[in-house]
Amino acid sequence: RSLPVDASEAGGPRAVPGACFSRVRPTPVQNPRLVAMSLPALALLGLEEPAGDREAAEAEAALYFSGNRLLAGSEPAAHCYCGHQFGSFAGQLGDGAAMYLGEVLGPRGERWEIQLKGAGLTPFSRQADGRKVLRSSIREFLCSEAMFHLGIPTTRAGTCVTSDSKVVRDIFYDGNPKNERCTVVLRIASTFIRFGSFEIFKPTDEYTGRKGPSVNRNDIRIQMLDYVISTFYPEIQEAYSDNSIQRNAAFFKEITKRTARLVAEWQCVGFCHGVLNTDNMSIVGLTIDYGPFGFMDRYDPEHICNGSDNTGRYAYNKQPEICKWNLGKLAEALVPELPLEISELILEEEYDAEFEKHYLQKMRKKLGLIQLELEEDSKLVSELLETMHLTGGDFTNIFYLLSSFLVVDSDPSKLEDFLKELTSQCASVDELKVAFRPQMDPRQLSMMLMLAQSNPQLFALIGTKANINKELERIEQFSKLQQLTEDDLLSRNKRHWKEWLEKYRDRLQKEIESVSDADAWNAHRVKVMNSNNPKYILRNYIAQNAIEAAENGDFSEVRNVLKLLENPFQEEGATAAAAACAQETRSRLPYSSKPPLWASELCVT
Ligand code: AMP
Ligand code: MG
Ligand code: MG
Repeated sequence: RSLPVDASEAGGPRAVPGACFSRVRPTPVQNPRLVAMSLPALALLGLEEPAGDREAAEAEAALYFSGNRLLAGSEPAAHCYCGHQFGSFAGQLGDGAAMYLGEVLGPRGERWEIQLKGAGLTPFSRQADGRKVLRSSIREFLCSEAMFHLGIPTTRAGTCVTSDSKVVRDIFYDGNPKNERCTVVLRIASTFIRFGSFEIFKPTDEYTGRKGPSVNRNDIRIQMLDYVISTFYPEIQEAYSDNSIQRNAAFFKEITKRTARLVAEWQCVGFCHGVLNTDNMSIVGLTIDYGPFGFMDRYDPEHICNGSDNTGRYAYNKQPEICKWNLGKLAEALVPELPLEISELILEEEYDAEFEKHYLQKMRKKLGLIQLELEEDSKLVSELLETMHLTGGDFTNIFYLLSSFLVVDSDPSKLEDFLKELTSQCASVDELKVAFRPQMDPRQLSMMLMLAQSNPQLFALIGTKANINKELERIEQFSKLQQLTEDDLLSRNKRHWKEWLEKYRDRLQKEIESVSDADAWNAHRVKVMNSNNPKYILRNYIAQNAIEAAENGDFSEVRNVLKLLENPFQEEGATAAAAACAQETRSRLPYSSKPPLWASELCVT
């Protein structure tokens, strides 16, 4: 239900009070072409690999999944949601670029919501154009599917369709506006409802003074909550068979736990979401909205993947507490259906415990600790991460290598070989010099330092303090690097790794002592490790190669990378295709390599 209204109230082309959805129509694009499709994702909708005329089938897919032609029975709509962006209430946001097409009943009777992202203006587009470009669409398309194949809950992506329609985007750091191709991604999920969907009921925010879309009708809020619980949490609905506070508490407890587990999964593959606003938090615990995300290459707990996140609010190591904060905002939006005293207690009792439990379980698998659960294990994990940090180790590749650590063989030359391999996955002096190269003009920095001293509160507020501190740290590290030789660095790194490996060996020894068949244990350990430590992840440089080729009209690299990421683990039988893909790369690097030097210059916003 949408009503015309004074646009000044919530900003943008049209405010939409009293509604959860508005009917919309995709805006056609010129000459749509299929960049790539994910067959496993399309299979959810009952769509099979086209037999026969491939070109015609791709053209037809492009026609429908650009939004140029509507699927029979679809009633496109844009969803109105609100959200807390970077810590404060932002008022009405809504689907500004995404359009819901409807639900598809899958072959096994499951229901899938399908959406086009980038299909044009909606009432919620605010000052933007409702379009997405090739590079952001390729990143969303590839990462959605990569996450799924890593076993991490996520929205899916069925197709990526580009076109000859153009929009202007500013490329960060360059400043020159660039005409880019409008591109549309078909997204698939059980639901796209977010925490922010419940925030449309929020009255005027006491802090920012921003208004939501004034959906102040209790009946709609209750309807939405009933819909979410009975549709996506049927076991909870059945257990309570009413709409009591107890039912709502059970739902909140479940979404709290799912969210905690989701973040634990992210942490264990080095995934940074980049924009963990409440409108990007799924009500069923999926990873949702792939923008300036990034998988960490060199391990840095304070890694920030979003170039416009000045304060580091969404840094890698902040993700667990930020998601808990977001759950707190969901809790506020559920009042009075769920009183805050109850939800706050649930959050305190469940979130940290579930996160720690899931994180440690996953880390034990990544380290091959399959036999015993010892209290000392969490220290071993944090010492591993510390060692990675100290040595600039590649997060993915160090974990991946650990399965080939020979536990029982005490031959010193074998240990030396292993140390060589490990340290080859650590940053070189040259790589560190790029990573720690100061980024500010020295005069600008000294001026900022002066200002920061005279008005510290203002500086903390706008995040410049974090910038300054990072810059000071870079200057210090950078100057230390000037005296460092590659040999010095290598022997220092070996020392650090040797120290940790001794602790790791001791811990593995305890496993061996608890089993009767050490060979069988070892085989199982390697298997568990190899199915929990991916060999291939969507590194920024890999996405970038695919994007550059696609921007030049060659989509083969996107398709190649998709195939590679469908088998991220080095498991028996699954690797032949992946290995073939990995060798066929534009960069001439196998995609299991740590990034080339040029990749440190990549910036995503
Ligand atoms: P995000 O940071 O991607 O979660 O987006 C925040 C808000 O901006 C959401 O309401 C989006 O729908 C909207 N938005 C993002 N990109 C666009 C776009 N290109 N056109 C219109 N709205 C957009
Ligand atoms: Mg979003
Ligand atoms: Mg987005």
